[in-house]
Amino acid sequence: MKEPTGTREVAASGTTSHPGKSRSTQLGDIREQNYSTIMRELMRSGPTARTDLAAAIRMSTGSVTRLTGALARAGLLTEVAEPAQRAKGRPKVPVAIDESTYGVVGVHFGLYRVNACVIDLRGQLVAEVHTTERTTRLEPLVRSAARSVRKLVDESGLTILGVGASTGGWVDSSAGRVQSQPVLGWQRAPLATALHQATGLPVLIDSQVRALALAEHWFGAAAGVDNFIHLFVGNVVGAGFVFNGAPYRGAHSAAGGLDHLPVAGRSSETCVCGSRNCFVVVGGDLEVARRARAAGLISAEQEVYDVFRLAGSGDPRARRLLQDRAALVGKVTATLIEILDPELVVIGGGISAPVDHVAILRDTAVQELAAGRGGDAATRILPSAFGPHALGIAAGAVILDAVYRSPETFVPALTANAG
Ligand SMILES: [Zn+2]
Repeated sequence: MKEPTGTREVAASGTTSHPGKSRSTQLGDIREQNYSTIMRELMRSGPTARTDLAAAIRMSTGSVTRLTGALARAGLLTEVAEPAQRAKGRPKVPVAIDESTYGVVGVHFGLYRVNACVIDLRGQLVAEVHTTERTTRLEPLVRSAARSVRKLVDESGLTILGVGASTGGWVDSSAGRVQSQPVLGWQRAPLATALHQATGLPVLIDSQVRALALAEHWFGAAAGVDNFIHLFVGNVVGAGFVFNGAPYRGAHSAAGGLDHLPVAGRSSETCVCGSRNCFVVVGGDLEVARRARAAGLISAEQEVYDVFRLAGSGDPRARRLLQDRAALVGKVTATLIEILDPELVVIGGGISAPVDHVAILRDTAVQELAAGRGGDAATRILPSAFGPHALGIAAGAVILDAVYRSPETFVPALTANAG
């Protein structure tokens, strides 16, 4: 995995070999992988008795008892107070992820808005601060975020393991840089380093679409699903991919940028690339608002939320506009399913606001894919588990994902406890 900016240790990936490493380091890698497996399983299944946990992850009960003991001493796991009684023998005392010791911070940088929050190790919101900003410049926004983080750390009462941050556009997670964020005007912005220097905490950054995909994977509509696509269609469009349980970012961290995917239809607006049939200009919320204005449905000052409201109150023209858009997105979804063969597709952004539009989208995708093997996946298209204010929580999922992959990197006490 990537090294968070601000942690010295490079975490073992657990999947690659390390021929140059000493035997003790290799044993450390295996131990860390086992810690990670246990924590992931408990996140997935909830409180579980050690014997059942051992069976689920194919490990001996003795090993599970030893490893869960170390995780509990480090504050990552807890024994659940109410033991599940068996008919005979010792009671099974379930272990669970500890929600009261550690937390992570999530920060989302939007246009004139920074949303920061603390979530616990199960992704539950503990505290949040939303600030309105007057600038789009990196330095003052990072200073504002750092003030919010300090306030949240004090309020939450949790030991904070790190900061996950996200924004729209092209974010290079491994370089810790926002390569291009057109809405904020950022180019090659060193966000991870700036946030680390301002907060003193380990920092990982990612694109907001990928952050949302990770949130769906850890505690949302795709919980427990290892191969899925998160398709976001709002003011911006994009897809986040999780393959084999890990985010797929591509060779340049640009995977899932669907802005210039050619689609059927033509916008009155020209895309930055000069075309009028790019997905971002034809399929986004801004186009819905433009068409609604052109049809006299909303005024020049009103926006897409007013179209949603009209459709919700039964206006047939507003409904038609949104249904057409849902069908368009259904075709894009069918294309993604055909290429990537996911178990599940999660739909987020404005497109998922009225749930019947996800049904239209699903029907279109099923029709497109009826003859192919993707037809089954098309039936598994679900709306996002999160509302429109989840961007801060999703940013927290970026660092939470790293904590679950590599607990010893973030909780050094775990290494000391291992014996
Ligand atoms: Zn374009």
